[in-house]
Amino acid sequence: MKYISTNRSTPSVSFREAILLGQAPDKGLFVPEGIPVFPDVFFRELPDLSWAEIAFKVARPYTENDLPDDALWSIITDALHFNIPLIHLHDQIHVLELFHGPTLAFKDVGARFMARCLAYFTAKKGAKITILVATSGDTGSAVANGFLGVEGVEVVILYPKGKVSELQEKQFTTLGENITALEIDGTFDDCQRMVKSAFGDEYLRNRINISSANSINIGRLLPQSFYYFYAWAQLGNQEVKPIISVPSGNFGNLTSGLMAKKMGLPVAGFVAATNINKVVPEYLETGIYTPRSSIQTIANAMDVGDPSNLARIRHMYDDNIRELRRDVTGCFFEEKEIRNAIRSVYLNTGYMLDPHSAIGYLGLKTGLKEDRFPGIFLATAHPAKFKDVVAEETGKLPDIPERLAKCMNRKKQTLRMGNDYGELKEFLLQTNKYI
Ligand SMILES: *Cc1c(COP(=O)(O)O)cnc(C)c1O
Repeated sequence: MKYISTNRSTPSVSFREAILLGQAPDKGLFVPEGIPVFPDVFFRELPDLSWAEIAFKVARPYTENDLPDDALWSIITDALHFNIPLIHLHDQIHVLELFHGPTLAFKDVGARFMARCLAYFTAKKGAKITILVATSGDTGSAVANGFLGVEGVEVVILYPKGKVSELQEKQFTTLGENITALEIDGTFDDCQRMVKSAFGDEYLRNRINISSANSINIGRLLPQSFYYFYAWAQLGNQEVKPIISVPSGNFGNLTSGLMAKKMGLPVAGFVAATNINKVVPEYLETGIYTPRSSIQTIANAMDVGDPSNLARIRHMYDDNIRELRRDVTGCFFEEKEIRNAIRSVYLNTGYMLDPHSAIGYLGLKTGLKEDRFPGIFLATAHPAKFKDVVAEETGKLPDIPERLAKCMNRKKQTLRMGNDYGELKEFLLQTNKYI
């Protein structure tokens, strides 16, 4: 498989190069040149396979030129050793729990897979690489955790000061070793812009090896498509096509789902559910895309005003919005609705939703207009990560998994920085002298 840039001005590259580069030199995002379609027999056999076997089979056509089978298998079994259960909630509604990884968020899937691919590729080259990542909350911890202690890799995390929860912050600022956290005086969009500037900076790129672990890196998107297959397999009925609701911020998760559908996965449709940062639902409705500054909400990992993966989605659909609307409906929810959903789902079923997953649930309710479809919404974070909001609405504190409780007692270590790219550049050039 070769990978091309959404801006179409970069020659095609291998999986290895696409992962190492992060973003294409023409500032576009890498997408597979063609999406393989799996035959019917593949889907018939799917329910008999384990999670790792499904992941391996889906990944193989995308990586076969760069990763021998045994390397791919050990990357998958090491990175994705936690389960992703599909749980029946009520009526036709199912929840796919993506939060059983080490940092309790779905980003563990992408970050851990990508980290291991990158480690494999850099170890072979004997090179050093700096991973630059902007986070609105969960990416930072998933990436930091995925790369912690990985030889030859330095991780630099940019996050907006005061705009991530204390718990999230603790998860990526207390690790030390090869992980550095930069506390930026600005918004998540500032952080994202600074990272993008670094990738577009030829002077810098000629001096240090940088790559991205944001969902602009195809190495994060690919593994996220695996669990759509696994979810379908767990439905246990080959005749049905589910509606799948995806709580979205940068739209990487939805892009992976759309890729799965193009690979032949039987899906009736997707719901792109957001908080009031609704630029994509608006685009789906009007056909006009108007990026703007993000607004802070209780579902902060989805506070994105200019989602990077929309470029990939538009590319996949040849920028034909009518085609896109056939597969995706958009909707968005305000804080009151999110809180009400957390409360009512808990009252009615005893199930605790974090604010992001609650948006997924609400999106599914909106999208499930007909009874004949089963519905799946993605639960992207464990309720304990957002325990205050969850406790306010349910009257009960969620159980705190031990791995989360532990990092609360560690000391935060960060470097403060303004929201100016020049400062970041200087820091990277300085730091690189010593690594
Ligand atoms: C990152 C994140 C999202 C949004 O995912 P995208 O792929 O960026 O759309 C949703 N929920 C949680 C908990 C997240 O961490």
